[in-house]
Amino acid sequence: MCGLKGLYPIYIFTFYFVLGLLAAISPLGILEVLALNGSSTAQPNQRENQKVFYDNFEMPVIERRGIAVIADFQNSSLEDWQGDGIQNVADLRAILVQMEAHWQWLSRNTEEFQWHIQRVRLPVDLGPAAFGSWWEFREAVSRQLEQQVNVADYDLNGGGFIDSVWIVVSNNGQEYEYMIGGASITSVANVFVDAQNSTSVIAGAFGNFNHELGHTLGLPDLYGPYGTISYLSMMADSWPVPPSDLTAYERVKLGWLSPRVISETTSNVQLSSADKHFDAVLVPTIRDKEYFLIENRRRPDSGFGSVAPPSNGLAVYQVFEISNQTLDPPLLKLQRKRRKTHTLDRAGQ
Ligand SMILES: [Zn+2]
Repeated sequence: MCGLKGLYPIYIFTFYFVLGLLAAISPLGILEVLALNGSSTAQPNQRENQKVFYDNFEMPVIERRGIAVIADFQNSSLEDWQGDGIQNVADLRAILVQMEAHWQWLSRNTEEFQWHIQRVRLPVDLGPAAFGSWWEFREAVSRQLEQQVNVADYDLNGGGFIDSVWIVVSNNGQEYEYMIGGASITSVANVFVDAQNSTSVIAGAFGNFNHELGHTLGLPDLYGPYGTISYLSMMADSWPVPPSDLTAYERVKLGWLSPRVISETTSNVQLSSADKHFDAVLVPTIRDKEYFLIENRRRPDSGFGSVAPPSNGLAVYQVFEISNQTLDPPLLKLQRKRRKTHTLDRAGQ
């Protein structure tokens, strides 16, 4: 990491370049310049005959599919649990419906994520020795699931794996190491795991499940020792209920947004509200893997994305593609606000 310190002079240079750009767009008004510095992309199917109008463009609705698989044991079924959490299929379906609605909102109605429910019964009793590792457990569930479904039906990006599987463990209140949460890939699928009474399930924090879904679609974590993104992305903070939005960075990764590239001083750059539009500016730097992304964040008054401090304005992210949030500089860093202007805020639409 010490070797990266030589990069700082370049950051200073690029930062002032961005300040120049911000000054150029000041006629739009900058109420708050949010503190800023700043993967595989799925190629899902397009649903025939169904389209949405977006920014006056007609766009096909993209349909993604995932499988929530209930993992029962020989001596433990989902319905055996009587405590807080998922007690039956209807409880699970209710969570999936919330996740689907959140994803539809994240994609501003350009994508529909459909969760299907499957069920497997593992050939062992629930207990501490049922599996030797979390990897073995996930592999066992995946192998059984593979017998029940046509993988290609859930492999919309053609990667040879089921794109997204959520394993819900019928753990009857027991906790063992092999049930640990988080996303990983098995020989069959991109999976993430929750016990039927996990903390997230009991809290009703379904943003955590769509956070993991984001991982299965190639999004990285945006929290960590050098994280600055916080409530601006569910990949940084997935606990709010209702859950948060995504930044321009993830929108680009998911194929939703093609930012306008501005490589020289430009005036009258108009940025529509990221709350309602896929709009962002990309400012390259002289470094290959480094650039700035700028978006106009507007916090919704209610519903998804509304659990956040009431800061509206330009968010300037410094992106360093070959890093992550545990390194300095990180993958995505919100640039710090240097000064406040008092022009009228007319950027939001
Ligand atoms: Zn994560």
